Amino acid sequence: MTLDPHPAASYADPSLHAHGLFIGGDWHAGRGIPVVNPATTERLAEVADASVSDALRAVDAAEASAADWRAMPPRQRAEILRRWFGLMTDHAEELAVLISLENGKALADARGEIAYAAEFFRWYAEEAVRIAGEFRHAPSGANHILVDHDPIGISVLITPWNFPAAMATRKIGPALAAGCTVILKPASETPLTAYAMARLGAEAGVPAGVVNVLTTSQPGPVVNAMLADPRVRKLSFTGSTGVGRTLLAEAAKTVVSCSMELGGNAPFLVFDDADLDAALDGAMIAKMRNAGEACTAANRFYVQAGIHDAFVAGLTQRMAALNVGPGTQAGTQVGPMITAKAVTKIDRLVRQAVAGGAHVTTGGAPLPGPGYYYPPTVIENVPEDAEMAHEEIFGPVAPVYRFETEAQVIRLANATDYGLAAYVYSRDLSRALRVGKGIEAGMIAINRGLMSDPAAPFGGVKQSGLGREGGVTGIMEFLEPKYFAVNF
Ligand code: NAD
Repeated sequence: MTLDPHPAASYADPSLHAHGLFIGGDWHAGRGIPVVNPATTERLAEVADASVSDALRAVDAAEASAADWRAMPPRQRAEILRRWFGLMTDHAEELAVLISLENGKALADARGEIAYAAEFFRWYAEEAVRIAGEFRHAPSGANHILVDHDPIGISVLITPWNFPAAMATRKIGPALAAGCTVILKPASETPLTAYAMARLGAEAGVPAGVVNVLTTSQPGPVVNAMLADPRVRKLSFTGSTGVGRTLLAEAAKTVVSCSMELGGNAPFLVFDDADLDAALDGAMIAKMRNAGEACTAANRFYVQAGIHDAFVAGLTQRMAALNVGPGTQAGTQVGPMITAKAVTKIDRLVRQAVAGGAHVTTGGAPLPGPGYYYPPTVIENVPEDAEMAHEEIFGPVAPVYRFETEAQVIRLANATDYGLAAYVYSRDLSRALRVGKGIEAGMIAINRGLMSDPAAPFGGVKQSGLGREGGVTGIMEFLEPKYFAVNF
């Protein structure tokens, strides 16, 4: 067991994260998981590899701190979160560099992520003091109904690599505001940001054991052991639909409450009456934020026949003009993909669409390394049964499909098991809202390429998830209503 040996000023230096697990306020040295810079394939650091017994020690630490944290006045919990927001903001540039190094995303995207991520702490600092109950009269007149909200209990939080900071704060913020203690398991590809944020949390005054962070190369057994522990009452997961399904089955064994933020396959609809330039601006954000590695990324562009060719030409021009390179290099707009495997998958999807008759207007093949690069790509005449119409591409590839009528495009938009996000461009607001109502998705952006906002409920329907994060509803995922039947 060691105390954090590092001064607070050096969050951007990956070598400082060569030690490991953060349990009960202590740093537990360890090695075993290499962290690679996807821009160069060089090793940045090595972090500890938690075992099942480490995970159970983290549950012990979360349990030991639970009663005090839950009893702490909401105002005090709020002030700790507010300080954490302030520290993340103070260290924004270092954290952005760290994200860019381990995830690959362009610095501009990483800076945007840190601002977004920190905002969850500020938002939930504000929500911590607004947890409301209910008071009603029973319809029978026999009694009164009083509803209180208790913290749900020890929460296991699992996050993906594509937003290493924001996916963690979107869970930690509401959990701590609600009075829960947590164990965060970040993705092995991007653990450094999570550990850097844990340090800032300790500096902000988060008591030992309230936030624990562990990395592991065996997420299955380690997470299953925590879910099997009766002290754990909540699983909040962000990641792929496949892993989400496995975890739902595992959580069923001990009836652990689950929130699931899973994969997406967002349609981006452009009607003939759309403002073309605005639609192209929005398309670039919806497709290229994070180089396409986002669950809300536009995965299918449906463009009405009258505007289709102009849209393809405009999108091709803008995509071809983007600078691809290491995320930390000045001028880079598109960083590398997370792994070689990700490039192979994108390449397979594009080749398959081309074999089915699609036409690439820019990009279309992996770039030479070192580093895992795929260029911004536009592809038209994609057959409706191409795999890329049904799977998350998770990369900088924009397939454009032509449509004729409103009814047809609603049917196409809904022809997927996913239902996270959708985008609609039309100058006719009543049409845009009508179409939005018809699309099976948890979030609809109208004449905008971005919908994520800490003040809004984020989440999906169908196989994109269960529950919502952010907004006033996000805290409810970490609260359990308790009803009192009262006579007086
Ligand atoms: P992933 O499902 O492979 O991994 C996510 C996390 O789960 C990682 O921490 C991983 O280590 C862990 N994990 C893997 N197997 C596990 C197991 N058997 N038991 C417990 N934990 C396990 O996803 P990824 O590749 O890291 O992230 C990309 C996916 O995340 C995409 O599908 C994307 O759409 C989705 N995502 C969704 C949202 C959302 O809010 N809906 C946000 C970001 C990303």
